[in-house]
Amino acid sequence: MVARVAPTVVETHDVHLHYGNKHALKGIDFKAKKNGVTALIGPSGCGKSTFLRCLNRMNDRIPNVKMKGKIDIDGINPYAHKANLMQLRRKVGMVFQRPNPFPMSIYDNIAMAPKMHFGAKGSELDGLVESCLKKAALWDEVKGDIRKTSGLELSGGQQQRLCIARMLAINPSVVLMDEPCSALDPIATAKIEELIVELAKDRTVLVVTHNLQQAARISKDLAFFMLGELIEYGDTEQILETPQKQVTEEYVRGRFG
Ligand code: ADP
Repeated sequence: MVARVAPTVVETHDVHLHYGNKHALKGIDFKAKKNGVTALIGPSGCGKSTFLRCLNRMNDRIPNVKMKGKIDIDGINPYAHKANLMQLRRKVGMVFQRPNPFPMSIYDNIAMAPKMHFGAKGSELDGLVESCLKKAALWDEVKGDIRKTSGLELSGGQQQRLCIARMLAINPSVVLMDEPCSALDPIATAKIEELIVELAKDRTVLVVTHNLQQAARISKDLAFFMLGELIEYGDTEQILETPQKQVTEEYVRGRFG
């Protein structure tokens, strides 16, 4: 029987990034399979967030950044001469460490992007807002008040789910999450983790986390970064239980952090 290999959706080849003289990414070759969670782990300052931000050109706004190498996101090269950034923004959603709802109603937080990208309006837009809130497991807690309540009035965990609902409104095929639970309490964290697993059933999700237990709970694949290099990549269980490299072993056994 021929083994079925999931197609790759995010692929990078020999990606380097410098912040001025600081060589923050050193030749990253990475692949994330379609649909599923890949966790990016490693000690603080090893380049995980920088790498994530490369994938949707979020480092562009930082002064003195130089990037080289090849990136393919579901068929798009974000750095191609004529790259269509709007197309990239529709394909790749991002969730940050601190929830960052806009200072407007829950409804408007979610409606803004589909209005802008697709000209959605009326009952179609209402239906989309409701379905995104349902997918983000927030609907039952906020329904009835979504036009009056500001996103800023919600709890931290609810705000993060609102940000996820807002991101889902453009139906991205790739979702990037940079320590999405690090500002949340354990109950809110458990809800977001459940949601990440659910979202990854039909999306490719990359999650930066400093929490190995979280990586074990939510991810199928794991990428271990250290000092700007991708040291080891593969099946999460295998890397956590029988890492191939000594430095990975030392990290996953908690010998340094
Ligand atoms: P991680 O996400 O693994 O904690 P980062 O990607 O944030 O690591 O950082 C990688 C390296 O790049 C670190 O040495 C950090 O100090 C440096 N760095 C990150 N952002 C910037 C920036 N905007 N300007 C200069 N150096 C930066």
